[in-house]
Amino acid sequence: VSHIDDKLWSDIIAAAGADVAWHGDAVDRFDPGFHDRNLAARCVVAPRTAKAMAAVMRLCNDSRVSIVPHGGRTGLAGGAVSKPGQVVLSTENLASMVSIHARARIAQVDAGVRLSALQAAASKQGLSPGIDLAARDSATIGGMISTNAGGNEAFRNGVMRHRVLGLEVAMPNGEILRDLKHVTKANEGYDIKQLFIGAEGTLGIVTRAVLKLEPLASGHATALVACPDGQSAVSLFSRLQNSADVTLAAAEMMWRNYAQTSAEACGLRSLRAFMEAPAELFVIVECHGPGEGGEEALEGELASAAEAGEIHDAVVARSERERSEIWRVREDSWSIDRTYPHGLWFDVSVPLDRIGDYVRDLRARVAAVDGDLMVFAMGHLGDGNLHLTITSGQPEARQQYDRVAAAVYHGLADIGGSFSAEHGIGTEKRAAFKTHVAPEMRAFMSAIKQTFDPHGIMNPGKLLSE
Ligand SMILES: Cc1cc2nc3c(=O)[nH]c(=O)nc-3n(C[C@H](O)[C@H](O)[C@H](O)COP(=O)(O)OP(=O)(O)OC[C@H]3O[C@@H](n4cnc5c(N)ncnc54)[C@H](O)[C@@H]3O)c2cc1C
Repeated sequence: VSHIDDKLWSDIIAAAGADVAWHGDAVDRFDPGFHDRNLAARCVVAPRTAKAMAAVMRLCNDSRVSIVPHGGRTGLAGGAVSKPGQVVLSTENLASMVSIHARARIAQVDAGVRLSALQAAASKQGLSPGIDLAARDSATIGGMISTNAGGNEAFRNGVMRHRVLGLEVAMPNGEILRDLKHVTKANEGYDIKQLFIGAEGTLGIVTRAVLKLEPLASGHATALVACPDGQSAVSLFSRLQNSADVTLAAAEMMWRNYAQTSAEACGLRSLRAFMEAPAELFVIVECHGPGEGGEEALEGELASAAEAGEIHDAVVARSERERSEIWRVREDSWSIDRTYPHGLWFDVSVPLDRIGDYVRDLRARVAAVDGDLMVFAMGHLGDGNLHLTITSGQPEARQQYDRVAAAVYHGLADIGGSFSAEHGIGTEKRAAFKTHVAPEMRAFMSAIKQTFDPHGIMNPGKLLSE
C-alpha cells in the first residue's frame, strides 16, 4: 500500500477484514462527498464493530500513523479532508443498529446510521430525533455528534450536544469508552462524553449513541413571509413562539437577494414573483397546530402580524408540492454558487436583537473591501445563525478572503456572537480559531487533546492540532 507500511496494512486487514479495507484505485468506489480532498489518503477502512474499530486505531497509534474519521462526508468545514500516509476510518459499516425505545423516548443507534434512517425508524413510533438538516440523507449520527450539528429545529430542541444522553467511543489506544445512559440526569463527575461532541474526530471515534427523541408532529402549515426588516422578522418569530394556537417548528430566514437568486435558479416563477414584495428579508415559517396541520391558526397569526406591521405579505402552502417548493428556495443553497461561483462561506451566530443591524453593517463593511462583492445571507432565524456566501462571481473573490473574513467577524465577540456557529472549525476556520479563541482556552483544549491522544494521531491539522 503506497504510503502505509505493508506490515501495518496486513495487521489492519487481520483486525478488520480484507473486504472492508480499500486502497489506491479501489477507493474510487466512494463518493468523496463535500470536499474533493476527503479521500486523498487513498486508503479507507470501514470496520464492522466498535471492537474492530478500536483495534485498527491501536495499530495506527502504535505505528504513529494518523487517522481521519469519516461519516457521511457532508461536513462543510473540511474536517474529513485526508492526505497520503493517513488512514480514513469510516463508520459506513457501523450502521446496523437503530433501536427505538418508544416509552422512554430514546433511540440507541450505531454511529454510521444516517439521519434520515433514524427519522424513518422513529416516525414509525410517532417520534422524531428533534433535529433536522438538509443533508439528512447522507449525514451520519456520528458525524453530527462530532460536529455538534444544529439545523432547523435547534431553537426549540437544542443542538446535537443537547440530544445526546449516552455515547460509546473508540479511543486511539484501543480502549472503548462506554457510557450509554438512557437518562437526562446523571451527575457522575466530569461529563467526559461532552468532550467528544463537537471534537471533529480529534479525540476518538464515536461508535454508538443514545439520543433523546421528541413527539412527531401530526401535521404542518408552512408559509413564506415577506418581512420589512430583520427586527420585524424577529418580532414575527417571537409572536409565533409565544402563540397559544400554533407550535413553531421552523423559522428560516433568507435576505432578499438570496431568496430571489435561489427561486430564480430553481425555476420557481410564482415564488420569484412574490419576492418582488418590498421586503428586506423572507422567512419560511412552519407550524404544527390543531386540526389539518394548523393552517387556519397560522393564517390568524400572520393576519395579526400584518396588522402590527411585522410582515408585508405571506403565501401559505396549500399542497405538499407548494410546501416543498418553498423549502427548496432555502435548502438549495448551492443555487447561489451555481449563479455566482467562487463564493466565500461563513457560518456565524448573532444575538437575535442584533441580527438586522449586523447584516446591514456587514454589507457596508464588505462594500468597503470591494464594491463588486455581494453578500447572500440566510440561516436559522431562531438561533441567529447566519450562513453567508460572499462573492463577486469572479475567481478574484477568493483572494479577498482575509479582508472579507475580518469584515464578517468584526464586532461579533463584543455582542456575544460566535465566528463558528454549527459547521465546526475543521481546516477552514483554523485561522479564525487562533484569532478568536482565547489563548488560555486553547491551552486547556490542547491539554485535553494530549490526554486523550498523546501521539496526536487523531485527525491532525483539524481544529487545534498541527
Ligand atoms: C446540504 C447541506 C446542508 C447542511 N445543513 C446543515 C445544518 O443545517 N446544520 C448543521 O449543523 N450542519 C449542516 N450541514 C453540514 C453537515 O451535514 C454536518 O456537519 C454533519 O453533521 C456532518 O455529518 P457527516 O456524517 O457527513 O460527517 P463527515 O462530513 O463525514 O465528518 C465531519 C467531521 O466529523 C468527524 N467524524 C465523522 N464521523 C465521526 C465519528 N463517528 N467519530 C468521530 N468523528 C467523526 C470527521 O472527521 C469530520 O471532522 C449541511 C451540509 C450540507 C451538505
